[in-house]
Amino acid sequence: MKTRVGFGFDTHRLGEGRPLILGGIHIASASGCIGHSDADVLIHAICDALFGAANMRDIGYHFPDTDSQYRGVDSTLLLKETCRLLSEEGWSIGNIDTTLVIQAPKINPHIPDMQKKLSEVMSIPVEDISIKAKTSEKLGFIGRGEGVSAYAVALIQK
Ligand code: MG
Repeated sequence: MKTRVGFGFDTHRLGEGRPLILGGIHIASASGCIGHSDADVLIHAICDALFGAANMRDIGYHFPDTDSQYRGVDSTLLLKETCRLLSEEGWSIGNIDTTLVIQAPKINPHIPDMQKKLSEVMSIPVEDISIKAKTSEKLGFIGRGEGVSAYAVALIQK
């Protein structure tokens, strides 16, 4: 059996009046991520980890932000398509581990809902999806509430 690991990273600016959507879940907040799609930074990091593991380039290669069909797109659709592209190449997903870095609001209460949502989208068990959340101790752009970052690793097999 072939086993591969991949790493993904993403960051988005935060702006007032935008919905905050993380891991496919809408979280009540005064500000949300700014981007061409729904700007779900966690899902974008997961897509890049999966593409990286399969050596299939990156999210911008498959879903370019110059393509108007992706304007405001629900990132769960991008993740679903990413999983489909990997499965077409014979890959199945072992597990994913992620870290969200955001100063506010508190993410921990939403993690079970995010895991459940991602499990449905990726068709893998909840226990194979780890989401960790932390602040940046008020340092830098994340600490000032100007943005949010996400990191992900994915293990795939065929
Ligand atoms: Mg992104």
